[in-house]
Amino acid sequence: MPILARKSSSPGRTGEILRSDRVFRLLVDSMRDYAIFFLTPEGNVASWNPGAERINGYEFEEIAGKHFSIFFPVEDIAIGKPDFELKVAAETGSYRDEGWRIRKDGTRFWASVVTSKVLDENGKLIGFSKVTRDLTEHWEVEQQYKRLIEGVSDYAIYSLDKNGYITSWNTGARRLKGYETEEILGQHFSKFYIDEDIARELPKRVLEIAARDGHYESEGWRVRKDGSRFWSSVVVTPIRDNAGDLIGFSKITRDVTDRKILLEQIQQHARELEIKIREQQQMNAELEAFSYSVSHDLRAPLRAIEGFSDIILTDYGEKLPAEAKDYLQQIVASTVRMNRLVRDLLDYSRLARIELESAPVNVRSAIADALNQLDLDKQSMVSVAVDPKNLQVKAHGPVLRQVISNLINNALKFTKPGKLPTVAVKAFRLGESVRIQVEDQGIGIAPQHRDRIFQVFERLHGPDEYPGTGIGLAIVKRGINRMGGTVALQSELGKGSTFEISLPAT
Ligand code: ADP
Repeated sequence: MPILARKSSSPGRTGEILRSDRVFRLLVDSMRDYAIFFLTPEGNVASWNPGAERINGYEFEEIAGKHFSIFFPVEDIAIGKPDFELKVAAETGSYRDEGWRIRKDGTRFWASVVTSKVLDENGKLIGFSKVTRDLTEHWEVEQQYKRLIEGVSDYAIYSLDKNGYITSWNTGARRLKGYETEEILGQHFSKFYIDEDIARELPKRVLEIAARDGHYESEGWRVRKDGSRFWSSVVVTPIRDNAGDLIGFSKITRDVTDRKILLEQIQQHARELEIKIREQQQMNAELEAFSYSVSHDLRAPLRAIEGFSDIILTDYGEKLPAEAKDYLQQIVASTVRMNRLVRDLLDYSRLARIELESAPVNVRSAIADALNQLDLDKQSMVSVAVDPKNLQVKAHGPVLRQVISNLINNALKFTKPGKLPTVAVKAFRLGESVRIQVEDQGIGIAPQHRDRIFQVFERLHGPDEYPGTGIGLAIVKRGINRMGGTVALQSELGKGSTFEISLPAT
């Protein structure tokens, strides 16, 4: 049976030592996962444990006395590796190695080997102990892992030693940075940084932070071999050995230039849009101020024209020829029209400026108030249905009344020639909103005009056909929007229209 060839060196020793010798031999023999054997100073096998038999495939009888180079592949023998191993072990005490070894049947295994020199009591070299482990499985897993990383092409994955010098380089790194593996290994990773970042010692800080925090993540410009730049997203992780000592870093880099460009474009658009909106707001404010002051200033001369025309008509009407009287009457009619225009314009521009505080408003009362502004005969043409009767809406009372009044006025006005108007006002709750509908059976509105009629001065008819200023619906829209609501329109040309406002319920 193979045993460790350790003989009791002094026959006179106690049984205790013999016993410990025996325990030691049993221990070594029991280690089936380790090939443990002894070499003479020349490198010949002198002992062999069951682990060695299992791993190398030789029985002790077959291998005893053979030179240990028998375990090496020819290429290692050719470069004198076995002798080198013993030489280093003899000089330094031990030698560690990982590499291919050959079994008796010619197959290879990946071995982790520790060779230590053995001295006798007088310090004379009596041989070498060798402990070998078969790490083929580990090696295969490692290779698979390496191949996996190597194969990744969308990410540059590489490793650095603890000072930042590159120790591995994958396909993605070659593709992304343009360097071949041979030319980049051993170089410092600061090579990829732009001058400004090198000047502020960013590479050094990256490693310091990664080592301190266990992780470093950031984005920034990096430089390719050809000098071109790309925007990278980087993750750096420290690599530590089993004892926890830092041995290097892994770096994963991704080219996210496209994303960065897109983001910048979006940000640029947003900035431009903001500027445009601000300009627009300023223009609107100026326009509002202008129209307000013009309308305001127009009132006094208008009143003068109206007043003096009236005086002429009353005081001198008798003396005037009929034609002159008619012209004067037209002047008065025009001032009435202009007065209405100015009043509406003022209402409209005031609506942009004033604070609209919303409070619960009783819908029935708001509709009743709007109706009360009409002549009695017109009131009778409007039916009202509010459900429930005490329906409340969150709104600014005066503006809501004006909006409803404008809609009812239009519904009564835009009737087919010779027909009496029929208008229905309905109000009800729908989910979180209150809807108020004003429905007529009038002339209707063609689809292509349904948006523009809500703008100031947009009218579809001449003043002779249907009088008006073209501001009523603009007031409706602005008022409702400012109260947080919306306006919708359904209409069929020649059949009628329904305007619906939606406001938050209380
Ligand atoms: P105005 O009524 O003073 O003309 P508005 O702003 O209230 O101004 O309305 C703008 C235009 O929209 C009207 O001139 C008319 O052509 C159209 N319009 C409004 N309401 C109705 C309706 N109920 N039926 C048909 N057309 C309408």
